[in-house]
Order: sequence, then structure tokens, then C-alpha cells
Amino acid sequence: MGPRPHSAQQPPRHVLVVDDSRLSRERVAGLLEDAGHTVRRADSGEQAFALCLEQSFDLVVSDLEMGGLSGVQLCRILRSDPDTAHTRFLLLTARDDPRSRFWSRQAGADDHLSKVRMQGELLERVEALLARPRRACEGTRRKRGGSPLARLNEVLERSLFEAVVTGEARRLFELTGDRATLARAVLDLATQLTRTHAAAIYLPEGGLPERVGKLPPLVDAGHDAPWLKALGLDAMGTDAGRHLILRDAEVSGARAADAPGEALALPLEVAGERLGELTLVPDSRGLTADDRHTATLLADAIGPALRQLRLIEETQRLATTDELTGVKNRREIQRRLGHEVARAGRYQVPLTLAMVDVDHFKRVNDSFGHSAGDAVLREVAQALCSGIRKVDLAGRWGGEEFLLVLSDTPLDGGLLLADRLRRRVRLATTAADLPCHVTVSIGVAEYAPGLTAEALVDHADQALYRAKDGGRDKVVRYIEESVATLTAGV
Ligand code: GH3
Ligand code: MG
Ligand code: MG
Repeated sequence: MGPRPHSAQQPPRHVLVVDDSRLSRERVAGLLEDAGHTVRRADSGEQAFALCLEQSFDLVVSDLEMGGLSGVQLCRILRSDPDTAHTRFLLLTARDDPRSRFWSRQAGADDHLSKVRMQGELLERVEALLARPRRACEGTRRKRGGSPLARLNEVLERSLFEAVVTGEARRLFELTGDRATLARAVLDLATQLTRTHAAAIYLPEGGLPERVGKLPPLVDAGHDAPWLKALGLDAMGTDAGRHLILRDAEVSGARAADAPGEALALPLEVAGERLGELTLVPDSRGLTADDRHTATLLADAIGPALRQLRLIEETQRLATTDELTGVKNRREIQRRLGHEVARAGRYQVPLTLAMVDVDHFKRVNDSFGHSAGDAVLREVAQALCSGIRKVDLAGRWGGEEFLLVLSDTPLDGGLLLADRLRRRVRLATTAADLPCHVTVSIGVAEYAPGLTAEALVDHADQALYRAKDGGRDKVVRYIEESVATLTAGV
């Protein structure tokens, strides 16, 4: 029987049939030859790989289970070698069971077919695969040298490297609890694995360092090295607080004066959601294909980690923040106060508390409504927060009461600060777009050895009570038996 004419629109194609069973191999090859295709045969995965390096096939049809290299391994190896990555691959499985389907998918095969259904479906599947447009890299074989065994080694080594890089990225995720720390660790890894001069990760959300950068040695904030611009870090000199810049990077052979190569910017994303960007700046020699591949691996590996850490950070933020005012909630300020009291006791550093209460706040609600009251509370919180140091803590203690924890601050300093805040609140609520201004009364108390956090809060509360009693809009300090007024109301 002569070759059956193939369909009019399909030219004959070169197909490689791989099976360690002669019977099975001949059956498949026969069907394909009858359809007019040119068929070569291989009786093992190893032989098939060698043939694929020799000649470009339009399609490989391979058995799944074979004695040496399995069909899955063959497919993965072909996919890993740039010269054969494009090859269309049809995997034949002995059974049509979930496990075979799983392996077919994992191998990166274009399609799979159970041998049970082969007689009726093989040609249909083959024609469908051959009709698919060529993969982008097809036809650009680089014709690299090397024996099949050397190439196989190379592929296996690369797979191992990829597995190690991906595993390392995952390990970093397990070791870090927030995105900024993960980003710094990933930059360390990236500069070890690639010929990178400088690197940065962008994390585009509020409440975080927006950029985490790793620079070559010999660079400081004022330096106008051109690749600072390439990293988007050139503004850091003017805005250092917003960026975490590591300056102790050990980047091989990097010199600050070197001209940068073109930066590689890779998106960090999961399922299309953009979580950040990894930017690598090479020296003037540029990045190698391997460097780019490694960077892509890293970027792919940390996308999911970034998403998970963002979720953790967000959960933590929600659990510790007062929703209305954005300051710490009562539980968190209590927890932090506990730490500060323990620290003051252990290291004998001063610690002062200020309990702030809005005067006649009920009237604000009664006259202007609850949402006007809410707006006033936000304004008061904002005025308090912007008037204290970074190391000080502000939290919402109750409805219209705020607690300030002033670490390393003795009573005198606390009283001065409290009075400044008292005036600040009045000014801020006057200037803001609010229906009325408000004043606050503040009770101040200093930690003394042996005091518990509860007792210290109680002292501040007692002082606050006296401030109210004395006419409001006042700062009053706690004194054991009597209470002294510091400022009279204005
Ligand atoms: P004083 O000067 O003695 O502190 O008088 P005051 O009216 O501020 O104190 P009081 O404790 O009588 O009233 C506090 C009011 O604060 C009562 C409550 O409805 C209101 N409040 C508590 N939490 C909130 C809130 O989240 N939003 C608003 N709008 N009002 C609140
Ligand atoms: Mg009040
Ligand atoms: Mg109150």
C-alpha cells in the first residue's frame, strides 16, 4: 500500500517516533507514514535526544514509560535546551488515568493521548499540533556544539541550578517576615548570582520603603553615579528616609566610576497582579543570557512570597491599628507600653505618659453629628502624631481619649511636649475644614521604679481628671498627694 495523500493544506512533515517497544513504535510510525509524513524512529529517550540535536523535527511523538530516559524526562530535556525547546511534543500514555495526565502536563508536552484511543485519534491530534503556528524561537537553532552526553549534562546542570535558585528564594521567604527584608535578601542573592553592578526592588505601596536598593561599594548618597538614575534611586540623597539603601554590598569587581549597561527591569507579579519590580544594572559589558535567565527565575520565585508577606503585613496592620484615626489601637498601645515599662525598669531610662482627652466632645456630636465628630477625632490624632518624635507612640485609648508613650523622656520634657500638643490641637482643628475647633486636656505622669503599666496609666488618668476639674484645656502632672497645674486655659 503506497503512502496515502495527506490533506491538501498540510505539507509532509518530519516526525520522530520514540518508543522502546518495537511493536508499538512501528504501529505509530506506520500510521504517520501512511498519512504521508517522513518518520524517523528512536528506541530510547537518549537516542531521541541525540537525533533532535542533529535534526530539527516538526513533531516528536513519544511513549511515556521507557526503560532509560522516560517520555517525561525527554520532553523536559528538550524544553530546557534552547536548540530544541520549540519542538512540538505529543506524549503517548499506556493508560488514560489521572497520573498519566498529570505527568503529561508536568512535562510540558503540547498534547497527550492514551494508546488505547490511538487508532482513531492519533492522526487527528497530530494534524492539529502541526497546524499550530510555529513557536517564536523555532527556526533560530543556534547549532551549538557538544556531544549528546555533554549537552545532556549541561541541561541537567541547568535544571539543578534552577531548582537550587528557586529553592533558595523560597527559603528566604521562610526566613523573613516582611517584604522589605525579603527584598534585601533577594538583592543579595541576585548580586551573587548575576554580573550585576547595582540592583533595586520597588514595592509600590504605602507604609513601606518604596525602594530597596543594593549598590556597589564606594557609593554614597551624594554620588551621581549614572546607574543610580537607572535604578530610580538618584533622588535618595534628598529623600534618604524613604529608601533603604544598603551600601556595604560586595559586588565583584564593581567600581563606582564604571559606566552602567542597560538596566533589566522585571515585574514581580502573581496571576497578573503587579507586586513590585526587580531592576538589575550591569556594568558596561551587559548581562549575559544566563544572568537574565537567573534574574527571571528569581523574579518568578519571589512573586508569590511577596503576595503572602503583603497579606501578613496587612493583617498585622489591621490587628494593631485603630480604623478611624490610623493610630495604634488600644491593644497594641498597651502591648507596647508593657515593653517600654519593662525597658525603663531594666535600664533606668526615663519614661513619661500623657493621657489626652478631647474637651466637651459630646457637644461636637450633639451639635454637628457623629460624622463631624469622627472628622474631629481624625484631626486630633493627626495633630498628636505629627507633634511627637518617631520613637514616641500614640494610640487610641478609648472613644475620644489618646495615650502617648514618650520613651527616654523625663517628666519636665513630657510636660513641655504635652503643652505644645495642647496648643497644636486647637490650632489644627481651627485651621482644618471642620464645623468647630476643639481643645484637649492632658494628664502627664512619669514612670518610677516598681510601677506597673496599669499603675502608670492610672496616674496619668488621675492627672487628667484634675485637668478637667480645673477647667479643661490644660496640662496637669501627677503628684502623689496633690496635683499641680502647669498651664492655665487660654
Ligand atoms: P469632657 O470634657 O469631660 O471629656 O466631656 P466629653 O463630652 O468629651 O466626655 P464624655 O465622656 O461625656 O463624652 C465623650 C463622647 O465621645 C461620648 C461618645 O458618644 C463620643 N464618642 C466616643 N467614641 C466616638 C467616636 O468614635 N466617634 C464619635 N463621633 N464620637 C465618639
Ligand atoms: Mg472628653
Ligand atoms: Mg473621655
